[in-house]
Amino acid sequence: MTTVATNQPYDHNNIFARLLRGEIPANIVAQNEHALAFPDIRPLAPVHVLVIPRGPYTNLLSFSQQASAIEVVEFWKLVQTVAQHYHLDQDGFRLLSNCGSNGGQEVPHFHVHLLGGKALGKMLPSL
Ligand code: AMP
Repeated sequence: MTTVATNQPYDHNNIFARLLRGEIPANIVAQNEHALAFPDIRPLAPVHVLVIPRGPYTNLLSFSQQASAIEVVEFWKLVQTVAQHYHLDQDGFRLLSNCGSNGGQEVPHFHVHLLGGKALGKMLPSL
């Protein structure tokens, strides 16, 4: 598994950048002017959707530092839309973002994983 350093500059050829440009297909679940949601290609739960900003942010840190207020708001509104779309607001869900090498981030475009559709158990195995 190749992971991404937290201070890596944005790579405009990463797979989500290509997906945003329409160069590779995506089964879009929901979108707005500033964000896009689509199923993870290797689902880990009955519902496993990725939400990404349209803007060029490598990870949560650069998104939080550099994105405009409207980008931040529209991103979180899309997370809410997807959660409601799958009725996850009833039984709950897990939201996570892998950041940098210790976080196990593979794709260097900020994204959150929205997971649900069953009881997911403990977040991580104990140390
Ligand atoms: P991570 O960067 O560790 O949060 O993981 C990136 C996630 O992107 C993994 O869960 C992959 O299965 C997923 N992924 C990679 N390529 C695609 C793609 N073309 N469409 C949907 N999901 C993808």
